[in-house]
Amino acid sequence: MTVNKPISSAGPRETARPSPPERPYQSEYDVVVVGAGGGGLPTALFSRWLGNSVVILEKADEIGGTARKAAFWYWVPNNRPMRELGIADPKEDAIRLMARLSRPQGYNPDDPKFGMTDWEYAAFEAIYDSASPAAELLAERNALPYRHCPDVVDYWAELPENKATKGRVLLPLGANETMSDGGKVAIETMSAAAVRDGVEIRTAHRVQRVIRREDGEIVGVEASTPGGTTRIRARKAVIFVTGGFTHDTTFRRNYLHAPVFPGCGARSNEGDLIPIATSLGAQLRNMNYAWMCPAPLERILDNNPGLIGTFSSPGDSMIWVNTAGKRVANEKLAYNEMAQVFFQWDGATSSYPNLALIAIWDRHSQKNCASVDYGRYIVPEGTDDRHVIKADTLEGLKTAIADRLEKHKALTGGLSLDKDFLKNLDATIERFNRFAEAGKDDDFRRGERKIEVQFNGPVGDDAGSNPTMYPISDTGPYYATLMTGATLDTKGGPMTTVDGHILDDTGMPIPGLFGVGNCVASASGRSYWAGGATLGPILAFAYRAAGAANAQPVRTFSTAAQAAE
Ligand SMILES: Cc1cc2nc3c(=O)[nH]c(=O)nc-3n(C[C@H](O)[C@H](O)[C@H](O)COP(=O)(O)OP(=O)(O)OC[C@H]3O[C@@H](n4cnc5c(N)ncnc54)[C@H](O)[C@@H]3O)c2cc1C
Repeated sequence: MTVNKPISSAGPRETARPSPPERPYQSEYDVVVVGAGGGGLPTALFSRWLGNSVVILEKADEIGGTARKAAFWYWVPNNRPMRELGIADPKEDAIRLMARLSRPQGYNPDDPKFGMTDWEYAAFEAIYDSASPAAELLAERNALPYRHCPDVVDYWAELPENKATKGRVLLPLGANETMSDGGKVAIETMSAAAVRDGVEIRTAHRVQRVIRREDGEIVGVEASTPGGTTRIRARKAVIFVTGGFTHDTTFRRNYLHAPVFPGCGARSNEGDLIPIATSLGAQLRNMNYAWMCPAPLERILDNNPGLIGTFSSPGDSMIWVNTAGKRVANEKLAYNEMAQVFFQWDGATSSYPNLALIAIWDRHSQKNCASVDYGRYIVPEGTDDRHVIKADTLEGLKTAIADRLEKHKALTGGLSLDKDFLKNLDATIERFNRFAEAGKDDDFRRGERKIEVQFNGPVGDDAGSNPTMYPISDTGPYYATLMTGATLDTKGGPMTTVDGHILDDTGMPIPGLFGVGNCVASASGRSYWAGGATLGPILAFAYRAAGAANAQPVRTFSTAAQAAE
């Protein structure tokens, strides 16, 4: 696996120690936005529309970040179409849901803040208050026109705390029918609006450190570029929107709660803000969690920057089993939840026995359920299927699976097939087939939640009452792939106020320094409330941070610094 090699022509990471203000600057703006992805573009647009001069510095050679790959559903509680359709989504109910899901162990329905800390509660309030105004402004200015998705259900539609189970999801207007290319559309429309409205966008600019005055004010940044280092002064604020640390092996290993594989976040997301902010005394929060999804292990190892995790687990005549040949979970759980299953710790053996699970399907699923959208692993004939293992019999499949596990054992803690794998697999299939015929999964309740049916993917015309299950054939061919858990991107970083001010170890804002998106701490803990639960809140915080940055006094610079220019 190759990670951490330079992925932009702006070069590798350098020291993050802040730079003094006295050296010459090559350019100057009111607001410097760092990162041109899902949060950076709206942050820059909101800042520009408030009358500021704005530059976006993007490390990669192209803009878009992780967001370019996203479906770009955005979760906006109490959005305008909901209000117009009369779908009630009162503030208290929406916050209650966010609280219940984000920190279930602290949730208290009778507490005025539902048992949350002030910081968490304020973040949920801010999302409720600002996501809809942000979405409306972007739409009005033709930067992100949207269509409402009234039929998309929240991932937790069955929870009693969820009072508005449908209608909170918006999608870029020009997205295709399967809704899978919304990110590409959003990046195109937002960047076109940025250019139209006078935001300067520079690619291959990797911000390495901030420029700090003696009084602690952050007054600019230094970026490495193919032509050398450039110093850019910020009259009002620097706003980091640099994504998570998915592609820094050391950060992943040291901060995440489990041995999560690198995922489908932008390859340039290496947690650059962490050393920059900690060198300024920033405090970190929520470092242990990520937005997660399953992915075929061998696609991850391909090291393809285009990797899309498995958002929709395809197949009806399909099961996932462990190396003992037994099912361990409901294969149709929503992606963030299914991804947690890989990291179950076995105290008796001191190992992660589920680190790789084996998805197995038959010709029926291959014929009816193949698709290339949403990272599905059952792919049509003629497409790249190197991750797929095939055999005419279950015995042959077992041998081929054993070979693949052997090949990757250095990455899985030596996982290999149990000696009773085949016997157990036969029994597992027999039991699953009984469930499929009855339409009821007595072990894991597959297909009982609305989102499982919504994300089921294509199935044949012969689907029964529970379209997520169909009996697995007793004749081959059979197919398999090794699955594991990966990040979309991480969700921890410096703690901020609800207006994006990055806080130091005493809880005071570091003057002039802001953060938005996956580079800063999310109050959502481990949870993923619904499709769009990353981007909806990110738009809200982009809107608020732009407002707060705009309100900063224009900095006067010391005579010494000006003389040096
Ligand atoms: C396949 C896929 C589908 C998804 N679908 C959805 C969805 O439908 N809805 C949803 O809510 N979320 C979705 N997500 C998640 C969503 O894309 C991210 O949460 C979102 O893009 C985060 O925005 P961001 O601005 O924080 O980071 P990014 O969009 O990743 O942007 C960060 C940018 O910062 C740049 N950068 C990093 N370091 C530096 C530096 N030092 N200097 C300058 N620039 C730097 C990066 O190159 C990158 O361009 C999906 C993710 C994936 C992978």
